[in-house]
Amino acid sequence: HQLLAQQASLALRNAQEYEEERRRIEALAELDRVKTDFFANVSHEFRTPLTLMLGPLADALTDATAPLATVQRERVETAWRNATRLLTLVNSLLTFSSLEAGRARSDARTVDLSALTAELAGVFRAAVERAGLTLEVVCPPLPRPVTIDPVNWERIVTNLLSNALKYTFIGRIRVALDADDNEVRLTVADTGIGIAEQDLPKLFDRFHRVRGARSRSHEGTGIGLALVHELARLEGGEVRVTSRVGVGSTFTVVLPWSATRRNAVADPPVER
Ligand code: ADP
Repeated sequence: HQLLAQQASLALRNAQEYEEERRRIEALAELDRVKTDFFANVSHEFRTPLTLMLGPLADALTDATAPLATVQRERVETAWRNATRLLTLVNSLLTFSSLEAGRARSDARTVDLSALTAELAGVFRAAVERAGLTLEVVCPPLPRPVTIDPVNWERIVTNLLSNALKYTFIGRIRVALDADDNEVRLTVADTGIGIAEQDLPKLFDRFHRVRGARSRSHEGTGIGLALVHELARLEGGEVRVTSRVGVGSTFTVVLPWSATRRNAVADPPVER
């Protein structure tokens, strides 16, 4: 009888602890939702004034009837460049919050992924060469077209490439696309500073930045890789990384053919 009473009281305590734990998790999830909504709202509010700033700045730079003196042009260009950077960041935050809330969709269409990737990499050529690095682009034609959201693909490729550029000081950046019977793979490999092993597990977490990371420019928010991770998932694939400090990093985005043939409209939202 005593044993039974003891077991009953233990079970009750377990149930109470379980209930408390469940409430704590719910409260945290709610807090996370509030934070995500807050980010989305603030980012959205930032977008309008930024767009309104960019218009007149672009006009000032392109108006042939009122050409700017060199000094003025440089100043306006600096303002335009930085406002554009801020807008890109705000857009990333917005995409990220909708991905987190499971609201993002893949507007997939059939694309020549090889041509698209080569074109996106080409945009970086001038900046890579200006930094004294070599850009290698190996994008042979794929055996078949890929169904994917080209805007999402652009975000994936440009985020990985701008990181490679930011964290590489000597050597080369290589962008390669290849495929086998099962999957299509994009690799962005650099000969940069590399990432310590202990930082790898958290690398794709939002806002995570490697402590003391020296980068070409000091800007950085820790959102780029989280975005790449979420977008790769949204497209039915995943991103992986291998890296060695002082040797370089290789990011690989793997897209199974089965995922790239799906009908985007019928896709369920990403579950978190
Ligand atoms: P950030 O805006 O800080 O670059 P990311 O999410 O793109 O944010 O990257 C997170 C962190 O991962 C960076 O702060 C940097 O420390 C590290 N990292 C990302 N890409 C590379 C790379 N190619 N080489 C070395 N470190 C990298």
